[in-house]
Amino acid sequence: MKTATQLVQGGRLPEDPLQASAPPLYQTATFRQASPLQAGAFDYSRSGNPTRRILEQQLAELEGGVQAFAFSSGMAAINAVTRLVPRGGRILAGHDVYGGTWRLLEQVVKPSGVEVEWIEPASLAETADRLQAGADLVLVETPTNPRMQVCDLQALARLCHEFHCLLAVDNSWMTPLRQNPLALGADLVVHSATKFLGGHGDLTAGAVVVQDSELADRLAFLQNAEGTALAPFDSWLLLRGMKTLEIRLRQQEASARKIVRALKQIPEIRNLRHPSLLDSPSRKLHRSQARGDGSLIALETGSLERSVAFLQRLQCFSLTVSFGSVASSASLPCRMSHAAIPEHERQARGLPEDLIRLSIGIEDPGDLIADLSQALDGLKGRGSLSTCVSQGAA
Ligand code: PLP
Repeated sequence: MKTATQLVQGGRLPEDPLQASAPPLYQTATFRQASPLQAGAFDYSRSGNPTRRILEQQLAELEGGVQAFAFSSGMAAINAVTRLVPRGGRILAGHDVYGGTWRLLEQVVKPSGVEVEWIEPASLAETADRLQAGADLVLVETPTNPRMQVCDLQALARLCHEFHCLLAVDNSWMTPLRQNPLALGADLVVHSATKFLGGHGDLTAGAVVVQDSELADRLAFLQNAEGTALAPFDSWLLLRGMKTLEIRLRQQEASARKIVRALKQIPEIRNLRHPSLLDSPSRKLHRSQARGDGSLIALETGSLERSVAFLQRLQCFSLTVSFGSVASSASLPCRMSHAAIPEHERQARGLPEDLIRLSIGIEDPGDLIADLSQALDGLKGRGSLSTCVSQGAA
């Protein structure tokens, strides 16, 4: 089955006696047991729930893993992965990860006795150097957002394994439909399913998918011991959202391409970023390991004031954190999604204050371009986007 078919036709419990055609919602905390001496297939929803099980089977299949675990948020999923590293162990993390990941690693994991170091994963020589000193886990995103930096997953996985270190990849942006880190050698894939997987901006969820059954056992233990699993209703909602993932991504990427073409012609916009605009080696690398350019775009206006004015004029795009919803959104990462990273760190990482992130939804692309146009018209020294729309959106 092709993925689009599997997304729609999958998601059933083979052992369901009634063979419900849509995933049934087991909204229950407990399951009656036939005997006090022998537990049934399910006993308590923190440990296992049939609706969550269907979701986890879908996620494992999509990412090509042996087992998946659904968590209450992307951060709960990432936290579970960091728990695989013992006290006294060492984590190397890509310096351009999501702000919440930075906060977790710096302010929760580090104080708990695990060493955390920041690396540039695109530099294999630097990563090899750091691995030489010993590490238990490397955690990266590719492409990163909003800065769109790409690292070579296959080479990184080979390097990690040479040093007996696990590689975890946050695949929230690309989704399993566009990039499969496990097939490229990674040991763990994590997702903020709040983003594209859910796709409707109506739930928070996370996932971890693994290749190896020993890792799966450790994660199953952690998920149950810490009580971080996704609730039945949210599992059901996520399954429902995932049915349209393929068609949503296709529309979002097509609209993003049109919007990039239109924005490229506006002289006031600086440092427009999208994977299609990467320098040639990075674009080639990205396209060798991913099957799409996604629908996140970043741009700069030249000053914080101009970016704020632009964001406040938007009407179709909502001013929200997060990304990947059917509804287009715009944000100012330095003050929103990445605000947890201190200013000096952000500056060192090249994350300017005026950088705006756009997440393209499934609205009519002409309406989105018109909205960006009217917001840009409010900026001093504006270029008229409207004349570019007909050329760019063609
Ligand atoms: N990973 C990435 C790339 C993210 O952008 C986010 C949230 O924005 C997370 C993880 C955390 O996910 P959640 O918000 O579902 O906890």
